[in-house]
Amino acid sequence: MASTGSAAPSIDLLPVDIAAYADGNTGIPYVHSFRADEDGPHLLINALTHGNEVCGAHALRFLLDHAVRPTRGTLTLSFANVAAYGRFDVSRPSMSRYVDEDLNRVWAPAVLDSRRSSVELERARALRPAIDRADFLLDIHSMQHDSDPLMLCGLADKGRQLALGLGFPAHVVADAGHDAGVRMRDYGAFADARSRKAALLVECGQHWALESKTVAIETTLRFLRHFDCVDPSFIAAHLLPVEAEAQRVIEVTGPVTISSDKFYFTKDYTGLEVVPQAGTIIGYDGDAAVRTPYDDCVLIMPSRRITPGQTAVRFGRYVA
Ligand SMILES: [Zn+2]
Repeated sequence: MASTGSAAPSIDLLPVDIAAYADGNTGIPYVHSFRADEDGPHLLINALTHGNEVCGAHALRFLLDHAVRPTRGTLTLSFANVAAYGRFDVSRPSMSRYVDEDLNRVWAPAVLDSRRSSVELERARALRPAIDRADFLLDIHSMQHDSDPLMLCGLADKGRQLALGLGFPAHVVADAGHDAGVRMRDYGAFADARSRKAALLVECGQHWALESKTVAIETTLRFLRHFDCVDPSFIAAHLLPVEAEAQRVIEVTGPVTISSDKFYFTKDYTGLEVVPQAGTIIGYDGDAAVRTPYDDCVLIMPSRRITPGQTAVRFGRYVA
């Protein structure tokens, strides 16, 4: 029967206080940037694109509290949707995802340059210069379901190579994003195969699971290690003592975008299920059956936010 995952998630990982970092040092509130004497890449680690995804705020506080500074190049740390984050209410935690609209769907230049206004668009416009300056972005997110972490690397090979360079997490998802709007990860040069700039979006686990904080910090440290821009002894002291898992790449073939106001899944999917048979019905969008398009179809991040125009789930397949 209708299954949109109504069970209330447990709230173990709570927001962390970031008021001490409100001023930043860049002229943009909540954005810090540190430059080394030696030349090197400009790395940007971003948290709170979604205000309810608190693990990234913990990871940035970990770096800021430890006064991590680049040994070469520039390191920028940004807390994105602080307005939504400030509204976190433990009794309605999902409500702090955004104030007016999804900050991760406004990154088309035509939208940023438009005359339209919202809390998120104004914040995106304020952040835009910092993002324009970055060579490599790690955007830290979390998920509705308690699922294994995913690294979303976009379609260009440079994103995939960067994800494989980090060696973590095990699941790498090569994807084009959503019909509802452009993500920060896909903004400008990040999605341009001719540019050397590249971006990753990590989905660390369930929004309020303690493990998501661990994954966020681990991913952050591996991102810094990959570019050799931070004291390696600091990274070594904090990396998890885990064996590297073999990474697998899932190529997303497309989103299922909701067109009716009566969408439901036939099972309580949580993500990364592999549906063996092509044509299997996984849900209904109004009266229309939603079928898997090929054998061994992987379900990526089935959503509980059932709204027309939004992504219900994405289909993908493992590649060698
Ligand atoms: Zn998110």
